[in-house]
Amino acid sequence: MRNDELLALDRAHVWHPYGPMPGRTEPLVVDSASGVRLRLAEPVHGQAELIDGMSSWWSALHGYNHPVLNEAAHGQLDRMSHVMFGGLTHEPAVRLATRLVEITPAPLQHVFLSDSGSVSVEVAAKMCLQYWRSVGRPGKQLLMTWRGGYHGDTWQPMSLCDPEGGMHELWSGVLQRQVFVDAPPVTYEESYADMLREQIALHAHEVAAVIVEPVVQNAGGMRFHPPAYLRVLREACDEHGVLLIFDEIATGFGRTGTLFGADQAGVSPDVMCVGKALTGGYLSMAATLCTTEIAEGISRGEVPVLAHGPTFMGNPLAAAVACASIDLLMSQDWALEVKRIETGLREGLAPVAELPGVREVRVLGAIGVVQLDHDVDMAAATEAAVRAGVWVRPFRDLIYTMPPYVTGDEDLARICAAVHAAAVAG
Ligand SMILES: *Cc1c(COP(=O)(O)O)cnc(C)c1O
Repeated sequence: MRNDELLALDRAHVWHPYGPMPGRTEPLVVDSASGVRLRLAEPVHGQAELIDGMSSWWSALHGYNHPVLNEAAHGQLDRMSHVMFGGLTHEPAVRLATRLVEITPAPLQHVFLSDSGSVSVEVAAKMCLQYWRSVGRPGKQLLMTWRGGYHGDTWQPMSLCDPEGGMHELWSGVLQRQVFVDAPPVTYEESYADMLREQIALHAHEVAAVIVEPVVQNAGGMRFHPPAYLRVLREACDEHGVLLIFDEIATGFGRTGTLFGADQAGVSPDVMCVGKALTGGYLSMAATLCTTEIAEGISRGEVPVLAHGPTFMGNPLAAAVACASIDLLMSQDWALEVKRIETGLREGLAPVAELPGVREVRVLGAIGVVQLDHDVDMAAATEAAVRAGVWVRPFRDLIYTMPPYVTGDEDLARICAAVHAAAVAG
């Protein structure tokens, strides 16, 4: 298809994330990708390829077109790409679930595979509500969270995103009411910890679970918080009979410097969601893990099953690639690579903090964030980054990058230079 033809059809028929119909801005056409480079169908602003600063939204941690992941996909494709999971099982799903149990905190023993992060959050919520129903506490029907979070775009997850200024504000009167507390401060404050304890105690009769993104709040505003708050949540939840869900969909698989955000606090949630980087960015898959207490509680109840079962549950192709991606990650010193990227981002982005209009630069693990004192001019910022040979996708007042772990030092420096250019332009 010719590029202009493709773009005309795209505009006429194809919806893009958080976009109007027809689209108002022209997307870049990607022809192929390998390593950390996206190859464009036609050069844009003089660039035939772009260094990927986004890991395709946290997912492509090994880069693109990786020989090991390709081989896993091809091998599985020749066996079967899918069979239903009701009444059937297969090695890729069993291996993946076992592997996830091995690498996540010890109390998490049971794995529900689904097709996207939002669905894994729906499943987490259903598990927790159903657990309390099963053990005779049906009044615990709400979830509690702190503001500034993001848990997905389907209905239950939307109700957990920050109700103000977030992407789902439009639905505030329609969504399930949940219990919100203030967003976590960036430093440890005992008064905030006390507030968490008080609110959990106050709402324990109606709250089934607290759900948070550990260590980094992602699409809700790219904010970091001290892991000590996670220990406060764990203790208060235990004390008052409330379950704790960690949404590790963005933080999982090493992104913050530890394998999971939970590891920074040394606590285990009762339920954990993973997604995004689970398949190394190859295919859509997510998982919800839970403890034996929750699994047994549900299975002792009046309706002794978890009534959820996506058509593509446990998809063998995605599971085979996920196994390969986890094995690839664990076979290398990923923590060293994340540390290297952290250092590169700290050094490379330091000058950006001096620019007028920049409120703050913050770096944690392989995540670099530039927060402006105004909303980003998306078109201008994106164009400046593309001219510098880099793909980033700013939102609100944020220009941020979370590069694949395989990004070399020179490419990392180019990413930092492009973020600098985007901050000047945007
Ligand atoms: C992206 C994300 C989700 C939603 O995952 P999808 O696969 O887009 O449905 C949920 N929670 C967090 C923390 C995320 O970053």
